[in-house]
Amino acid sequence: MSDNSYMNNEENKECCGRDFIHQIIDEDLKSGRYTGVVTRFPPEPNGYLHIGHAKSICLNFGLAEEYRGRCHLRYDDTNPLKEEQEYIDAIREDVRWLGFDWGKHEYYASDYFEQLYEWAIDLIKKGKAYVCDLSPEEVRAYRGTLTEPGKESPYRNRSIEENLDLFQRMRAGEFPDGSRTLRAKIDMASPNLNMRDPVMYRIIRATHPRTGDKWCIYPMYDFAHGQSDSIEGITHSICTLEFEDHRPLYDWFIKEIGIYAPRQIEFARLNLTYTVMSKRRLLELVREGYVRGWDDPRMPTISGLRRRGYTPESIRQFCKLIGVAKADNTVDIALLEYCIREDLNKKANRYMAVLNPLKVVIENYPDDLTEEMEAVNNPEDTSMGTRKVPFSKVIYIEQDDFMENPHPKFYRLAPGKEVRLRYAYFIKCTDVIKDSNGNIVELRCTYDPNTKGGNAPDGRKVKATLHWVSAKHAFDAEIRLYDYLFLKPNPSDVPDGSDWRSNINPNSLQVLSNCKLEPELRKLNIGDKVQFERQGYFCVDPDTTPEKMVFNRTVTLKDEWAKIKSKLDTHSK
Ligand code: ATP
Ligand code: MG
Repeated sequence: MSDNSYMNNEENKECCGRDFIHQIIDEDLKSGRYTGVVTRFPPEPNGYLHIGHAKSICLNFGLAEEYRGRCHLRYDDTNPLKEEQEYIDAIREDVRWLGFDWGKHEYYASDYFEQLYEWAIDLIKKGKAYVCDLSPEEVRAYRGTLTEPGKESPYRNRSIEENLDLFQRMRAGEFPDGSRTLRAKIDMASPNLNMRDPVMYRIIRATHPRTGDKWCIYPMYDFAHGQSDSIEGITHSICTLEFEDHRPLYDWFIKEIGIYAPRQIEFARLNLTYTVMSKRRLLELVREGYVRGWDDPRMPTISGLRRRGYTPESIRQFCKLIGVAKADNTVDIALLEYCIREDLNKKANRYMAVLNPLKVVIENYPDDLTEEMEAVNNPEDTSMGTRKVPFSKVIYIEQDDFMENPHPKFYRLAPGKEVRLRYAYFIKCTDVIKDSNGNIVELRCTYDPNTKGGNAPDGRKVKATLHWVSAKHAFDAEIRLYDYLFLKPNPSDVPDGSDWRSNINPNSLQVLSNCKLEPELRKLNIGDKVQFERQGYFCVDPDTTPEKMVFNRTVTLKDEWAKIKSKLDTHSK
């Protein structure tokens, strides 16, 4: 796979090295439409941020950096039924962790509630908005469809005086929730459904995380978003494609109110294979217990990726590689994994850990001897130095590094075969010990004392090098291995009548509780990232206690044998 294979989308072809967003901004600066660049990242605090949001964050903060402008963090907090302080705090933490700084420019749509209310009054006074008594169901029924025009509300022609009176009384709390709305008076026959007298305000008695119980009417997202951008002097209001059809409405509000107009630019949202990205579904995964929380390492949330061991650098690099496009597409999750492997390859020190231990007794090794073997911490970065790894008569190797009746392409340990123990000696298997059920419980081996360090003076070669730990020096730890949360590349691909949940992978988490780790690893702290030789990249999970360390596997290494084996398995089926 070439790294560019993800970027061959026609729309991604850059002109003069610039994507379409850069081109638009360049032109706007050249023509003098704007004199600088002000962007914003506008999350609704109704869930945790995910990798799709990271794309938007990198884009908006990245543009601000490049053009020496600024990027605001603005919470679009217009729906108190779904928004919570927990989400506000998590969003702040995640954006900061990704490496971006909004300085003093943290804003909230709720800061503008009074102004938005004033503008609603202005629109009523201009005859451009009216109070409607249709129920939400009726509003929907009157709205029409893509092929049929809508029907005008019987309340559409109320007098300005009556509208002003009713709207003020809506604010004062005189009417029950859902009984009335304020609607823009635009065009019930518009081909764009968003223009068919959209609701501007609804009555909701819910405590808002910031304004508390001050309001019982709340602006719709569509009546808040464009004006919030305008108030903040945003020049380029960058959003995902589904807002393209809302743009005429935002433009209409801005024009009728008569305020400064930002330019909206739409780009394709990020979709990833084996991943659901909608906050609604992510919330269901959490609430229904499919995962352990928003920061479960299987979740595509920023907090999940962080806990999994992803670095901010790897996520930023991923966002850079995918670029921006104007057409929807789905990125292979392998690209994200590639980015973290590349980053950790440079940064993570190597250690030895045995995930599924098999005991090996080296019969000709002295009973009480311990030798300190010199091991390289990071072959990619010699400044990381070396460490000592204790070696003794009884060691553990991986169960799957041994086969009693090996396939011809299996080069690891087998009866009569010789392999290298990393940083130690050549060993040869002399005997296999089984329990009464025929399970292999122990191997007997001999070692060649002349191969210390891993090379034979007579030049003889072995085909495999195994990792190992010394039984009496190792400590026990829990290691959590992860697979994709979904069985299919497209989680929504389900037979008729079944639910997306039927694609949830029941085996996405595997907990290994009897792993044996080299002693040096005890010194690690929560969040530290390492490579376990031949097993992948791992990080220390916050569930770690003084009694028990817990590791997450961030990502596997490229494993050639696993590839061969899976091919053999499919052929033999
Ligand atoms: P979701 O659809 O996942 O529930 P959302 O769009 O409702 O997300 P917001 O909090 O409104 O979530 O999003 C904040 C910003 O992030 C918006 O500008 C939105 O366009 C952008 N964004 C959300 N999802 C993606 C995605 N998958 N790819 C790129 N940008 C995204
Ligand atoms: Mg949204």
